[in-house]
Amino acid sequence: MREVFSPESLEALWPLLEAPSWALLAGGTDLLVKMRAGRSDPAAFICLERIAELRGVREGETDLWIGACTSHAELICHPLVERHLPVLHQALRTLGSPLIRRMGTLGGNICTASPAGDTLPPLYVLDAVLELRSQSGMRRVPIGEFITGPGRTGLEQGEILAGVRVEKPGGRQVHHFEKVGQRKAMAIGVASMAALLRLSVDGEIFSARFAWGSVGPTVMTCAPAEALLAGKRPSRGVFEQAAAVAMAAVAPIDDVRASAEYRRRVSGNLLLRLFPEGSTLT
Ligand SMILES: Cc1cc2nc3c(=O)[nH]c(=O)nc-3n(C[C@H](O)[C@H](O)[C@H](O)COP(=O)(O)OP(=O)(O)OC[C@H]3O[C@@H](n4cnc5c(N)ncnc54)[C@H](O)[C@@H]3O)c2cc1C
Repeated sequence: MREVFSPESLEALWPLLEAPSWALLAGGTDLLVKMRAGRSDPAAFICLERIAELRGVREGETDLWIGACTSHAELICHPLVERHLPVLHQALRTLGSPLIRRMGTLGGNICTASPAGDTLPPLYVLDAVLELRSQSGMRRVPIGEFITGPGRTGLEQGEILAGVRVEKPGGRQVHHFEKVGQRKAMAIGVASMAALLRLSVDGEIFSARFAWGSVGPTVMTCAPAEALLAGKRPSRGVFEQAAAVAMAAVAPIDDVRASAEYRRRVSGNLLLRLFPEGSTLT
């Protein structure tokens, strides 16, 4: 039997974080699996679900704030997420099953720091900034700096992930998320890709952002492929060049689900799917 603490405010949470062997629990969909596999054995749980300050979506003039303990199901139904962050919305819809989406949270997905975490590639292309809170205050860290390796983050003792801040992308854009797995639902991705293209009024690519899941120790980005597209008119040729650069840049491994070579090809093909299938580009 383990004790479960359920603080109802951040004020009540801070003293509990002084015990290093107690685990933070949001939806439990990763932590409980880890415990069952013998990879975690906390002395007690600190359950975050009753802390209202960690939930919901708030709209600012130029950005959105998403509370870490907001469930995937709540985010899928949220009109601001659907309207402003389609790339994240698309990814959330592929995550797990209805039950997992109801229990699992955005913060849990981020803090697990799996290279296959479905919300991560969208958050990378959206340049999400994480708000880490502790009793002594708050610090903001870009997601790419927070996640330092498979299962590793920059979270310090006494700190929690409180929320995620994302600029509302403006102007003409193409949002795209796709996951390739062994089956459509409840499968860890063999490879995934999030893309965010900003287009000028006359259809030129103003900027391109790409992030791949499951093809490296963390989510992989590829600045040279992005630079290749910036300032160009969309064409099959330019996307093929960017796909070739991306295939060389990703760092997949062989595992039971797929070979490294297959993952590398899929990474390029996912980028190619933006053209001509991204109908807004044609
Ligand atoms: C059957 C099944 C299918 C799944 N399918 C997918 C899938 O398709 N795609 C996918 O990406 N994931 C999938 N997952 C993994 C999991 O559902 C997600 O990663 C989920 O978002 C985790 O959120 P959670 O709230 O349940 O995290 P928890 O299990 O509660 O926590 C995970 C970790 O994060 C820490 N943590 C949680 N919240 C915070 C916080 N606010 N601050 C600091 N630390 C925190 C916890 O201490 C723990 O170490 C699946 C899991 C299962 C069991």
